[in-house]
Amino acid sequence: MKKLLPTSTAGSLPKPAWLAQPETLWSPWKLQDQELIEGKQDALRISLQEQLQAGIDIVSDGEQTRQHFVTTFIEHLDGVDFEKRETVRIRDRYDASVPTVVGAVARQKPVFVEDARFLRAQTSQPIKWALPGPMTMIDTLFDAHYKSREKLAWEFAKILNQEARELEAAGVDIIQFDEPAFNVFFDEVNDWGIATLERAIEGLKCETAVHICYGYGIKANTDWKKTLGSEWRQYEEAFPKLQKSNIDLISLECHNSQVPMDLLELIRGKKVMVGAIDVATDIIETPEQVASTLRKALQFVDADKLYPCTNCGMAPLSRSVARGKLNALSAGAEIIRKELVNQPS
Ligand SMILES: [Zn+2]
Repeated sequence: MKKLLPTSTAGSLPKPAWLAQPETLWSPWKLQDQELIEGKQDALRISLQEQLQAGIDIVSDGEQTRQHFVTTFIEHLDGVDFEKRETVRIRDRYDASVPTVVGAVARQKPVFVEDARFLRAQTSQPIKWALPGPMTMIDTLFDAHYKSREKLAWEFAKILNQEARELEAAGVDIIQFDEPAFNVFFDEVNDWGIATLERAIEGLKCETAVHICYGYGIKANTDWKKTLGSEWRQYEEAFPKLQKSNIDLISLECHNSQVPMDLLELIRGKKVMVGAIDVATDIIETPEQVASTLRKALQFVDADKLYPCTNCGMAPLSRSVARGKLNALSAGAEIIRKELVNQPS
């Protein structure tokens, strides 16, 4: 029988201090050349072991081989000049110096396929691989070539599809696209955001997911959240169209957030990765707190479609806090599994 409530994480996990500066986004590598390649593989092995030890069911690479969830993918593409930088406003929230699109974008060689093969060889558990979504990619760049957000998004969707097909062939069970931008640009999401995402998953037989969140626990995001009021209804904008899309799973931020749980009714029928771990605090949830969030979600998500997860990636947290949160996630899911089994049906 398939395990009820399979647990997973939204994406990144902290890196060891010998590989990269801890608790930092865009942290520079501490190793070079062959040492860096081996260091990344060792970090991936450790990250995997920590997930397995915590009882996480759907495991990932913890994004140990990438510096950043968007930038690292783009670095591998033609048409983007990383020396030529412009300051842009990311997700309408904070200014960042980003690379410039100077010509046609293209993927000459696989980006993460070797890493995925390496992860596949280390475990027989189901594996999930995260890629940036087209809209979040264009929002992290200055475009001096296409001069159209939509046109560039379609180009990236094509490239993502090439990568996704090879990840699937490498044995990845779930390919996830990170689209935090879906919580910001509502008109674009409905005009072409979801359409480009569906282009990115075209022809895939493995499961596909989209992760939509309120971001890492960095200051720009926590400040933004303070402006959102007592009810965060952003998901309401994209959900109706996502419900009709071909995406299998939707990964969401739920725990400690002001997202009204009844919004999940709008995606009834989809599998939902319910964020039951807050990544914006060092306080480790109790298993009962995790269970309580999952119980609320169960009012709107069928039990066989509920996947307990974290709100977002945990790269900026300390390793011990992240470990504690993984354990809490597992223990919280187990509480609900027992309740479901004992329930008279
Ligand atoms: Zn996220």
